Amino acid sequence: MKIIAIGRNYINHAKELNNPVPEKPVFFMKPETAIIRNNKPFFYPDFSENIHYETEIVIKIDKLGKHIAEKFAHRYYREIGIGIDFTARDLQQKAKEKGLPWEIAKAFDGSAPLSEFVSVNNFKDINNLNFSLKINNKTVQNGTTSDMIFSFDKIIAYVSQFVTLKIGDLIFTGTPAGVGPVNINDRLEAFIENEKMLDFLIK
Ligand code: ZN
Repeated sequence: MKIIAIGRNYINHAKELNNPVPEKPVFFMKPETAIIRNNKPFFYPDFSENIHYETEIVIKIDKLGKHIAEKFAHRYYREIGIGIDFTARDLQQKAKEKGLPWEIAKAFDGSAPLSEFVSVNNFKDINNLNFSLKINNKTVQNGTTSDMIFSFDKIIAYVSQFVTLKIGDLIFTGTPAGVGPVNINDRLEAFIENEKMLDFLIK
């Protein structure tokens, strides 16, 4: 399986990092070794001094597809979850300045803590879904999928022009504004609507 992640999919987040609002989705990948499950802790890596959280709705592909039309894209996933796209912001900034790829800042081990997945039928409208992150019991990110520049279906249509989507692949769909650093001993709790989906520590 593979993890595809979308950058700059919320206007307010693109602006907070001084990035232009994209005309097409920006995507990058993380390897399977990035995943942390079952609320296991995230170990702060020694190669960075500025690890940021990015809270994102994650869709799980459950059907093989390539060149998927946007109008059929909803048939390719039935479950969503929430994840953190941990980013070594210091390394990413250097990569951006030099025009280098982002993997060093985005694809490292443990950079993708993931919740369990739940049926899209649990929600009235997945295109108007609230999600949030608390750190040490204080809300630091609060977003709604209605603010996405590119909807889930648009993302699937776009990405599948380049990359075949396979059963079990995951797509991180971008983060709203409010990203910031984590510190050792922080407790992170992520919610979809009012349901706590993730609860883990930084060690
Ligand atoms: Zn992200």
